[in-house]
Amino acid sequence: MKVTSVGALDSIKTRIRDAALAVGRVPESVTLVAVSKTFGIDDIRPLLDAGQRVFGENRVQEAQQKWPELRRNYPDIELHLIGPLQSNKAAEAVQLFDVIETVDRPKIAEAIAKEMRRQGRSPKLLVQVNVGRELQKAGIDPDQAPGFVEQCRSQYDLKISGLMCIPPVEEVPDTHFRMLFNIAQATQLPLISMGMSSDFEAAIREGATHVRVGSAIFGAR
Ligand SMILES: *Cc1c(COP(=O)(O)O)cnc(C)c1O
Repeated sequence: MKVTSVGALDSIKTRIRDAALAVGRVPESVTLVAVSKTFGIDDIRPLLDAGQRVFGENRVQEAQQKWPELRRNYPDIELHLIGPLQSNKAAEAVQLFDVIETVDRPKIAEAIAKEMRRQGRSPKLLVQVNVGRELQKAGIDPDQAPGFVEQCRSQYDLKISGLMCIPPVEEVPDTHFRMLFNIAQATQLPLISMGMSSDFEAAIREGATHVRVGSAIFGAR
């Protein structure tokens, strides 16, 4: 698996490049976030050796067990939090992550703002949008997203850099990706995180700047 994950990484990078070129986009305008959740340090190291530097984790505690050690050898890692954040984990998240993609409610924005001031750290922040308006799913309602982005700025002094979404699994994602892109345009946010192993090429067609790919690189979880 360690050998094949590097081969899989190469083929995903080629597919990202081809998908970008096919719609007239510069391939470098799409960043691959390699989602390493559930995989251990020994599975991750070969990818670091192959030059991959941007990774995603969905749990704060799991990331804490893996990444401080890896960072000692690879200080230029960029680590993204892509899973839901509880306010009692805000301190750890602000300390460990370079990008927090899952800001989705005032309470979390407030907790992150407080920790950023306290620690003097400033991870990039994305707002997660519940594009499918699914009851069980995290993220702010699409209609409330622009107002929430503005609230983050005015009330919590937080700079929001972009938007993130996870479309409903059972639906064709394209219209959901387009909705996220349109909200990002309307709110003038440059970063758009969307697309996973099964649909990252569609996401690139719709304007993703970050695709989050796990199983297509690391294998089944
Ligand atoms: C697990 C996960 C991914 C990666 O999913 P794959 O289908 O394995 O590529 C992307 N985004 C989020 C938020 C995830 O939790």
